[in-house]
Amino acid sequence: MADTQFDLIIIGSGPGGYICAIRAAQLGLRTAIIEKDKTFGGTCLNVGCIPSKALLESSEHYQAVQHDLASHGVKVSKFELDLPTMLARKDKVVKQNTEGIAFLFKKNKITSFNGFGKVVAQGKVEVKYEDGKTETLTTKSICIATGSVPVELPFLKFDEKRIVSNTGALIIPQVPKKMIVVGGGVIGLELGSVWQRLGAEVTVIEYTNRLGGATDQDCMNVLKRNLEKEGMKFLLSTKVTGSKVVSDGVEVTYEALADGKATTAKADVVLVSTGRKPFSTGVGVEEMGIAKDPQGRIVIDKHYQTNVPGIYAIGDVVQGPMLAHKAEEEGVALAEMLAGKAGHVNYDTVPGVIYTHPEVATVGLTEEQCKEKGIEFNVGKFPFLANGRARAKGFTEGFVKIIADKKTDKILGAHMVGPGVSELIHEVIVCMEFGGSSEDLARSFHAHPTLSEVVREAALAVEKRARQM
Ligand code: FAD
Repeated sequence: MADTQFDLIIIGSGPGGYICAIRAAQLGLRTAIIEKDKTFGGTCLNVGCIPSKALLESSEHYQAVQHDLASHGVKVSKFELDLPTMLARKDKVVKQNTEGIAFLFKKNKITSFNGFGKVVAQGKVEVKYEDGKTETLTTKSICIATGSVPVELPFLKFDEKRIVSNTGALIIPQVPKKMIVVGGGVIGLELGSVWQRLGAEVTVIEYTNRLGGATDQDCMNVLKRNLEKEGMKFLLSTKVTGSKVVSDGVEVTYEALADGKATTAKADVVLVSTGRKPFSTGVGVEEMGIAKDPQGRIVIDKHYQTNVPGIYAIGDVVQGPMLAHKAEEEGVALAEMLAGKAGHVNYDTVPGVIYTHPEVATVGLTEEQCKEKGIEFNVGKFPFLANGRARAKGFTEGFVKIIADKKTDKILGAHMVGPGVSELIHEVIVCMEFGGSSEDLARSFHAHPTLSEVVREAALAVEKRARQM
């Protein structure tokens, strides 16, 4: 019979939960994890980060064959889209990742339970299995890592065929001729890009007058211009007010905020990507009197503990950016605290990446946020256009922008749009983690020719001494 006594039980095996479990087990805690879905890995591995990146990668190749290879002297006379193979490859990538988590649980001697977890008392968690049977486990600490789910609009109910969330958008069996994306945030732009590259006519409808929420708008303007060049259309300051599913698609009604004029457009598929909400339904939060904030997020203290002693929460179900790496770091910090160590998360250096073409990557404060906070700052900006490696690659759109404190030169933020920036952002993050200045970055070697030289030039530009412009 499986062990039912633990030091830590985690409910939910997304990046928050599984990383917390592994770190706790490494530190010698008897650890169990409960997952209600058939595979481990949560939103991120199953219907989020990983499958979306697999499709972004594949669709980028498809686009390159059509538009980019000829300029490199590579002529492809015959090519076709094999969507079933592309989707099957994505599924294989997901399977490799989710099975990898199962392997890590075994390797680290973490006991996993496939069932629905519910906190029934302090130190007691019930697992309900598919066949209706239940089992009660005992533990010193409980971690709720139950993640988030997509927000559904009352007039755009998901059927995951015509009106899809991120889950349905990853399995569309035929390229839609027309696709409407409701919401111009990260998920809408990434998944909209996939289908646009594969041939769909994509229109993004966004309520606010900007894309990407609080993301640096210089970066977003470059991205928007590029996506428009590729054929994507944007309706900003526009409100979707209704929809009607018809035999061959969905009629979507929307209004421009400026004049309230209503328009109806038809699409084969509508992707609703207006945000995600924390998920803790049925987990025992209400019964245990665990406090939530008005947004439905579980309220925690700086040790990730809820108002009920011994019950903790991390990841998308608590406040902060809904990002896998944020959930992971919280999982590590909690495990370390429970093992008597000093767990810590630096929320000033959580990166945000949009994996479009070009990519956008940001960390820390934007110029707008510095102004709001009354912080005096210097900005250094350098374009990829002046970078030899970017020219050799054949993509020179975008720039790196570094924001540094006016008095101390300490780096406060970095905002990048261009080739490979999802990787480049990390040198700035490491520098920030050590409290570094723009001069520290500027004085560090950067191999030539690399895209990372643009980061160095932007750092040099903070003190107006960029060399290659
Ligand atoms: P989740 O990953 O949501 O996991 C929660 C788990 O808990 C789920 O497996 C769920 O089944 C389980 N669960 C819930 N209730 C119970 C219960 N009662 N009993 C048992 N199990 C339960 N983030 C990034 O950082 N980078 C990206 O590129 C990125 N891309 C994304 C793309 C898309 C399309 C989407 C939708 C999200 C993306 N995200 C990305 C966000 C990222 O997926 C989430 O921030 C991350 O998964 C949150 O981790 P989590 O552990 O808090 O929750």
